[in-house]
Amino acid sequence: MNNNKFPLSLPRLLVFLLILAPGFGLAQDNVVESDSHRFVEVADGVWLVTGTGSVYTMSNSMVLVGEFDTLVVDSHVTPAAARALLESIPVITDKPVRYLVNSHYHFDHAHGNQAFPDGVEIIGHEFTRAKLNGDIGNVLEENTFKSFSDGVPTLVANLERQVADATDPTRKAQLQETTRVQRDYMNAIQEVVPTPPSITLESEMTLFQVVANGSREIRLLHFGRAHTGGDVVIFLPQERVVFTGDMMLPGLAYMGDGHVDEWPASLEGLKALDFDMWLPGHGPVMRSKEPIATFQAYLRDLWEKTSQMHRRGVSWEQAAQQIDMTNHSGNYAQLTSPGVDPRAIRRIYQLLDD
Ligand SMILES: [Zn+2]
Repeated sequence: MNNNKFPLSLPRLLVFLLILAPGFGLAQDNVVESDSHRFVEVADGVWLVTGTGSVYTMSNSMVLVGEFDTLVVDSHVTPAAARALLESIPVITDKPVRYLVNSHYHFDHAHGNQAFPDGVEIIGHEFTRAKLNGDIGNVLEENTFKSFSDGVPTLVANLERQVADATDPTRKAQLQETTRVQRDYMNAIQEVVPTPPSITLESEMTLFQVVANGSREIRLLHFGRAHTGGDVVIFLPQERVVFTGDMMLPGLAYMGDGHVDEWPASLEGLKALDFDMWLPGHGPVMRSKEPIATFQAYLRDLWEKTSQMHRRGVSWEQAAQQIDMTNHSGNYAQLTSPGVDPRAIRRIYQLLDD
């Protein structure tokens, strides 16, 4: 960890009320923006945080503001993205960050950890610590990080070529901005030093944050292996809000490190919680519980179909091309033809072989 302190100069502020937007329900949400981040207050002092696009963040965060301190959930994809988040938090509060919680160890949620100032405690599942601490392999060398990051230089080179070829000035300016953001991201990756949680939990932990009218109960819950070996959801029983990380997304989650066979049972734990709103690790505020059952059905079906291929001796590469999940296209519009992310199928084969 290094010693970045809050900067004295605040980013340019943009404060406005969001007029009824689909997906945000009937209440007017308080929305505040910095150059790099958009903060939506979904309950008193509970903010969903997304990137505006000027810095590549890749994932959502949540900020819980109390009387004396703030708690941040997830640190984005690079130290640079996390610094932009830390520099933006003063648009909603002057309370210092006391805790950072990692929903899971994946790079896009935890590679900003090192940017948090010394003294900020990082909390996560013990598996998250083992991963980020290098106890079970080097996360920078593993397939998940590499499969998402190795292509970035090529992407930047392609964008640079498109900028050079573009003739329409508006299009050229858009491409230049996209290229700048991706080039910054490419450079920012070089700085990453995986930084593990300093406080761990195995199945649950509860924090009480002092707020104006008493204390906010913050429950960190691990329901079993799912998207990774150490997913934690952050449940606020009084506000009836839960941050789900990537254990539950509006669409299909990445499965390359998943426990697809155990995931549906772990989701039962999430389903049993009393909440009106869930904040996913990627995507918008969600209100319906229905997608949970839909996703469970997909996972069970994928496990079954992949197991059949495995039993028949089909290679994982071929299985990834052949497995037909289009019977779920009513829920996931992208499933228009057979074929599944090969990283998911390779992972399921790995679990079946173990
Ligand atoms: Zn993830």
